[in-house]
Amino acid sequence: MVIQVLPADVADQIAAGEVVERPASIIKELIENCIDAQATQVVIKLLAGGKNKISVQDNGIGMSPEDAAKACLRHATSKVSSIDDLFHIQSFGFRGEALAAISAVSCLTLTTKMEDREEATQIVVKESLQSKPTNVGANTGTTILIEGLFEPVPARKAYLKSDEAEYRECLKAIKQIALAHPQLDIEVWKEEKQVIEYHPCQNLTRRIAQVLKKQTESFTSVEGSSPDMKISGSISRPEFGISTRTGQYLFVNGRPIEDRSLSFAVREAYHQSCGIEKHLHPLYVIFIDIDPILVDVNVHPRKREVKFAEPRDIFSLIKRTCSEALTQNSQTPFTPNPQRPSFAPTPAITNSYSKRTSLFGQSFTTQTPSFRQQSSVRDQSPINDTMAVSQETSLDEVELGELKLIGQITNKYIAAEGSQGLFLFDQHALHERQRFEIYWKKFEDQKDRTQKLLINQNFTFSEDQISILHEHQQILRDIGFQVSFPNDETISIEAIPLLLEKEDLQVHLEKLVEHLEGEQIGEHSIDSVMRRLVEYKACRGSIMFGDTLQPEEMQHILDDLKNTKFKWLCAHGRPNYWFIPFDELDHKFHR
Ligand code: ADP
Ligand code: MG
Repeated sequence: MVIQVLPADVADQIAAGEVVERPASIIKELIENCIDAQATQVVIKLLAGGKNKISVQDNGIGMSPEDAAKACLRHATSKVSSIDDLFHIQSFGFRGEALAAISAVSCLTLTTKMEDREEATQIVVKESLQSKPTNVGANTGTTILIEGLFEPVPARKAYLKSDEAEYRECLKAIKQIALAHPQLDIEVWKEEKQVIEYHPCQNLTRRIAQVLKKQTESFTSVEGSSPDMKISGSISRPEFGISTRTGQYLFVNGRPIEDRSLSFAVREAYHQSCGIEKHLHPLYVIFIDIDPILVDVNVHPRKREVKFAEPRDIFSLIKRTCSEALTQNSQTPFTPNPQRPSFAPTPAITNSYSKRTSLFGQSFTTQTPSFRQQSSVRDQSPINDTMAVSQETSLDEVELGELKLIGQITNKYIAAEGSQGLFLFDQHALHERQRFEIYWKKFEDQKDRTQKLLINQNFTFSEDQISILHEHQQILRDIGFQVSFPNDETISIEAIPLLLEKEDLQVHLEKLVEHLEGEQIGEHSIDSVMRRLVEYKACRGSIMFGDTLQPEEMQHILDDLKNTKFKWLCAHGRPNYWFIPFDELDHKFHR
């Protein structure tokens, strides 16, 4: 490896951009350099999520003292010398600006030794000012130590998130690299404590299981190709979905990327081939190998997003490959809504879930189009105005009277006759709303009440999830949990909010993590967090869109309407009924 300074024109052609956004972006650059230097082992040490210290040590080929002196200069690289190289580059870093950019905003100490040298060279660069090289003792390889990150630019420092949040970003970057390089031995230390040790894996499946902390059996492999590209990797079998998007990784030619459209392609495959539930997300690690000429990796300064020459081809190949993997390799048949507890507001109807039959199923199915037709005709009809009102009239203004059940339509809607007209209800939306109100009221009545568990319950989560729970301990306490963190993977629960009695705590905690992660720090109020828990609890136990219902179940829901405060909206804000006044019906039939 010989370092040369890039000619100015080449340098200018490379899209300029900041490499250093946060500790995680530094880690990514540094580890990629280790891999380029043929390292087989990398040790990463972090203090305060990388804000106070980042050290990345490798056992790669090292640098000569002459190269070490050039490594931190802008556009100093041993990896590219012309713009053509950019499109065919095999190595990771290629801008020759990572070390320069990092050392401009921190104090960087580089220690490096080639195998055939007696001594290592050490150089300290502070705010781009470079010390004279000194000789020190060290093993073959390179160690880069970053201290005082962003001290010269306080504005950038203030922009960083909490230590725990930055730590999670670092973990994400490390995991991406670990997945792309199964044979790399990776150690991570947090605050002087080892938190990760990924031993080299002979194959990707093992590494995926190691990084995502799942059994290898939870995954099925994806394999597909077209003349220009190859898809490989693993996706979780439908029954192993989780409630967060944390375990989703995409790579293009070995480089981790983010691409909403391709993530959507995977999700579509799940929806269409096995109907995975809305609140569950698949885990996946997918590699796209594509002719470098068909992908531009330089559109994003930190190379996070890429631009494909033929995005549609990739979309359909990914979707098809995943669908095939899910339908062919899944050994267990998919059961929709497997987690629905046998729990409904009225114990009387609980037992009838098992052998449901539709009441008037067929005959009403055939009538559905006529309702639709009516809705389009109404737009041009002379009584358009009244009808527009009728559609928007809130149920509070309509005399509900005794609602007489007509029946179920396509296992999705409940048809009922009221004193003033015909109602169609979205069975899931309405039931969920009713349950939400019951539980929300309970929560308000029982505020501050916690339930001690007979014995502490321990739950295992990924490092990121634990880190989120750890960071938000106070809000957990505020809503009624008593928790402790015996180690980096475990949360131990002594007491829970009364509302979560008899609930599956693991899934609720996962949901909570997802909520806490998505929101800005400091924005959580007890009510907003509780609302999420209650919404989720209400949804989980509800009758689903598509469930066949017994007449008495439907009648119960109708009867409950009297007590439902916000009858017309489901908990997510969709309408849950359609009302057709009798005079509208009469008008339709020229009566
Ligand atoms: P780039 O990776 O784009 O070339 P960097 O600023 O990341 O630019 O690194 C500059 C040069 O320093 C690299 O081209 C490489 O020659 C050398 N270098 C950086 N890190 C290492 C390392 N860990 N081991 C060996 N050489 C390294
Ligand atoms: Mg680099």
